[in-house]
Amino acid sequence: TEMLTGATVRKWIEKTAAVMAENRTYLTELDKAIGDADHGNNMDRGFKAVVEKLPEGDDIGALLKAVSMALISKVGGAAGPLYGTMFLQGSKPLMGKSEISFEELAQFFEDAVAGVKMRGKAEAGEKTMLDALVPAAEAFRKAGDLDAGLKAAVEAAEQGMKDTIPMIAKKGRASYLGERSRDHQDPGATSSYMIVKALEDAVSE
Ligand code: ADP
Ligand code: MG
Ligand code: MG
Repeated sequence: TEMLTGATVRKWIEKTAAVMAENRTYLTELDKAIGDADHGNNMDRGFKAVVEKLPEGDDIGALLKAVSMALISKVGGAAGPLYGTMFLQGSKPLMGKSEISFEELAQFFEDAVAGVKMRGKAEAGEKTMLDALVPAAEAFRKAGDLDAGLKAAVEAAEQGMKDTIPMIAKKGRASYLGERSRDHQDPGATSSYMIVKALEDAVSE
């Protein structure tokens, strides 16, 4: 694949919504262990609203900005504003573009990560979604092209998600548990892995 098209980005968003619906119970179970048992419901409700609000056309920036707006308005709690900021920051350089290159997607991932870090005042290693997103963005850039990059990003996100299991949470509700947050996989890192995987699936179809 040379360029990512608006149609593929739309497919990514729709796939993400389907994956969140399928995994609603799973994500909520993960959040039950170290949070308040709503992450799956939050993501499913949020992405259902996203799909309803998705604009016509193939302006990639506009599509991603619409994702952001729907998540911010529909999802309470931590994940809505965090994913909302992620998609908003990532969308900005892509406004008006109907296809984007490897370089632009690498920049998207980096801007998305920067948005989450800024909004959450967090870094990788604190048992959050950043533990999947940061390695994914790095692996994508390092791979050097779109197809290899997405494959590497999915692998890195999956590893990052698993790496949250032994971590002690430093941010969000799970941090209230201290040591007792150990030995559980972070729900947000898990939904982040799913979002990256949905992009690879959309591109490789
Ligand atoms: P809430 O905790 O408000 O119920 P969710 O359950 O939807 O929200 O989302 C929880 C997830 O949000 C966590 O698993 C974690 O990955 C992520 N998260 C929480 N706080 C932060 C933060 N400050 N920075 C980055 N991610 C965070
Ligand atoms: Mg929760
Ligand atoms: Mg909550």
